[in-house]
Amino acid sequence: MSDAAGAPVRVGVLALQGGFEAHGRMLRALGADVREVRVPGDLDGLDALVLPGGESTTMTLGIEREGLAEPLRAFHAAGRPMFGTCAGLIMLDRAHLGIMDILAERNAFGRQVHSFEEELDFGLPGGPVHAVFIRAPWIAEHGAEVEVLASVDGHPVAAREGRLLVISFHPELGSDTRLHELFLQIVAGTA
Ligand code: GLN
Repeated sequence: MSDAAGAPVRVGVLALQGGFEAHGRMLRALGADVREVRVPGDLDGLDALVLPGGESTTMTLGIEREGLAEPLRAFHAAGRPMFGTCAGLIMLDRAHLGIMDILAERNAFGRQVHSFEEELDFGLPGGPVHAVFIRAPWIAEHGAEVEVLASVDGHPVAAREGRLLVISFHPELGSDTRLHELFLQIVAGTA
């Protein structure tokens, strides 16, 4: 995946905590130039950013410690795409960074159901996506500009708002790269 001038797109992965390495591997396999983001200066020169799954309380503390909240909001305000998965979805919601017009409910599938797998139809070529949920949130509320891409039992688990993409499961696990490809198409302006 490259930009209009032929250079690879430069995608940051927030690397304070959680599943950032698997996202990096998948993005590299798709041809992106991947950079790990730990401090505000790491955002310089990036075309887009992935916020991985992990633990949202720990990630919030890391963002506060490193002074990343305002730089992340500015990154979004500058029109650069962001992709939040699981805890990363939570970080983007109204109650955390306030970047996306969604409200996440943490551990929404209940304490008994820490993890489960489901075939989810995104209408992508190649058929349904095999989705791995790990203590996942769902989207409890969202604004009118938010397009729900997939739901489980009527609860939105994937959504898009302009250049923001969120998914409550773990698309970085396994070998299905289609959701990362969708994000790179959003980055390229072709989706
Ligand atoms: N349950 C976690 C939280 O609330 C998110 C789980 C995940 O990212 N896999 O932060």
